[in-house]
Amino acid sequence: MTILENISLKNLNTFGLEAKARYFVETISEEELKEAISYDLFKHASKLVLGGGSNILLTADFDGLVIKISIPGIKIIEEDKDAVFIEAGAGVVWNYLVHFCVERNFGGIENLSLIPGTVGAAPIQNIGAYGQELKDVLYLLKGISISEVKEKTFQNDECKFDYRDSIFKNELKGKFIVTSIILRLSRNPKLNLSYGSVKDEIEKLNLKQITVRDVSNVISNIRRRKLPDPAVTGNAGSYFRNPEVDEIKFLKIKEDFPDVIAHKQVNGNYKIAAGWMIEKCGWKGKRIGNTGSHAKQSLVIVNYGGAEGKEILMLAGKIKNSVKQKFDIVLTEEVNIY
Ligand code: FAD
Ligand code: NAP
Repeated sequence: MTILENISLKNLNTFGLEAKARYFVETISEEELKEAISYDLFKHASKLVLGGGSNILLTADFDGLVIKISIPGIKIIEEDKDAVFIEAGAGVVWNYLVHFCVERNFGGIENLSLIPGTVGAAPIQNIGAYGQELKDVLYLLKGISISEVKEKTFQNDECKFDYRDSIFKNELKGKFIVTSIILRLSRNPKLNLSYGSVKDEIEKLNLKQITVRDVSNVISNIRRRKLPDPAVTGNAGSYFRNPEVDEIKFLKIKEDFPDVIAHKQVNGNYKIAAGWMIEKCGWKGKRIGNTGSHAKQSLVIVNYGGAEGKEILMLAGKIKNSVKQKFDIVLTEEVNIY
């Protein structure tokens, strides 16, 4: 295990923010990870577990231990005529796992194509896109409890998955490190084309038979067109979650803004597109100093170069205030702030 000191995290977070880690280790196995967290020097240090850094906002130097999870490996552990169980190490790039499954026509994560980051972070906010969520296919996850340095497994129903949320983002935040996940995927995929943009693009292709690979390709293309590439423009995807409101509140908004973008949920509430509200408040494409709301997707806050975490925090605060004033809705952050 190599311990680095005072290292820059600028290339390890997709916002491209400068912040230093007092200590830094990269772990490629569970054994190394256990060694790192039980090492005397780090026993009482604050710890930041890092995957691809695509869902974090660094607002200051981190005066503790940053643990980069690079545990590799994808293996098919069991299969029958209907399902296949795949285990992937927490350090595997998420989109590489998607590609591995799509190429074999295993269905269940094709709509999650091109989401940046690692496999280990996928359960933290129950990643989701275009009508699919990790919770629909996660069978089991394995990891290590930091305080006890002990292995522990979680079944799907123990993860308290919710919309962009899980037990790991709440009670267990900073207390548990995912080392691998097991997915149950389908060998007879049922495609989810419920999102208008995906359906339209697929229809344009005029295919006799649609495969998971077609869906994956279409979604990857839409994302490339619409979202800023972090390698070019720093960002962490959606900064806020889409809020859910009850029907009374929704109807009130609809009365004032007939063009509201919202989707009815199974519980009768409505999920309102936060990006639409931000746009209505005049933020879409607006730049303040080195930061701004992205011109094609206002829910994404960008670093045009040289921004500090605090600047992004300030812009997010201003956006939140405008949304609160105009719609009486308090947006909550999806990004993890440090
Ligand atoms: P990091 O940013 O490194 O970490 C995120 C959080 O998880 C941190 O709190 C960290 O401590 C914790 N964590 C990381 N690894 C572990 C681990 N092994 N064990 C325990 N805790 C851990 N998200 C979506 O849900 N849907 C999208 O469609 C989507 N699109 C995006 C598009 C862009 C352009 C960008 C930049 C981001 C997007 N995201 C999206 C957000 C992000 O990619 C995901 O949340 C992703 O899962 C984060 O992975 P990561 O490895 O980069 O996590
Ligand atoms: P979009 O398709 O323009 O839709 C706008 C919003 O309406 C989305 O936020 C989506 O909610 C919701 N929506 C659209 N069609 C829906 C349907 N048929 N049923 C239920 N809800 C529907 O959104 P977009 O910004 O281009 O993003 C496309 C997908 O990628 C979304 O699923 C989005 O969550 C995901 N994405 C996520 C991030 C991130 O960082 N979290 C970044 C980029 C894209 P949902 O968000 O709940 O799906």
